[in-house]
Amino acid sequence: MKNFVLRPSGSSRWLKCPSSLPLEDKAEVVKTVMEAAAQGTAAHEILELCIKNKVRPATYMGKTVEVYDEDQMTFPLYIKVNPEMVEALEVFLGHLDILDPDNVSEEHSELSMEHSSLDGLRGTADYVRISADGSHLWLYDLKYGKGIVQAQNRAGEVNTQLLSYASLLFDKFPKLETAEVAIIQPRGATKKKFRSARIDRSDIDTHVSNCRRAQASALNVVNLVEPIGDHLKTGSHCFFCRAKNICPAQQKEAAEKLFG
Ligand code: SF4
Repeated sequence: MKNFVLRPSGSSRWLKCPSSLPLEDKAEVVKTVMEAAAQGTAAHEILELCIKNKVRPATYMGKTVEVYDEDQMTFPLYIKVNPEMVEALEVFLGHLDILDPDNVSEEHSELSMEHSSLDGLRGTADYVRISADGSHLWLYDLKYGKGIVQAQNRAGEVNTQLLSYASLLFDKFPKLETAEVAIIQPRGATKKKFRSARIDRSDIDTHVSNCRRAQASALNVVNLVEPIGDHLKTGSHCFFCRAKNICPAQQKEAAEKLFG
């Protein structure tokens, strides 16, 4: 059986609830492009152009970006680059401007990767810079939405989406030892637009082990080795789960609310 795709953006969900991997595969997903998500996609495209072409966002003011959902199943939305987007991307680029221009061996934007030994773990990192000696990584992720996303919670746990991208990068660049992983959220409802965490290779090893465990649990569920309920866990991570409508745990909770 083919392994499940482990998308970094859903990692906070599938690490806690591995059964959501097979359930999402079975769920009837409504193929829609949300305006807010399309704005984010367009902002990422313009950011990529700015970094690759070494120009400022104002260069693209008024340009129209064609946006499809990730499965390209719907008609496109057309998003125009406006002053708010230009200003937001300037905030992101401002954090690149302060990095040491001499301490770099590689720089990438929108770098797509697949893990060499963890089948299914794949993703695209927004901004990647490797130090001149190859041992340190700067990984910056653009969040265009307003809902705050932390790089690290109060318990010191690093955002698993960032850890997933970093795992792909540590796999791709074996000399890496340390990293600064950051979320840059220019439109976030907080003064602190840049939030970061420091990690090293031991954090990556732990995260990859956790991903392997989630992948194995999901496979055990579809191979009927373990009951689905053994790896179902409700929580705040359910919010964006596409399997909510067919999830037995959600149905049980709903029944308990109604009749319990
Ligand atoms: S709704 Fe929650 S409990 Fe159900 S599959 Fe999705 S993440 Fe798991």
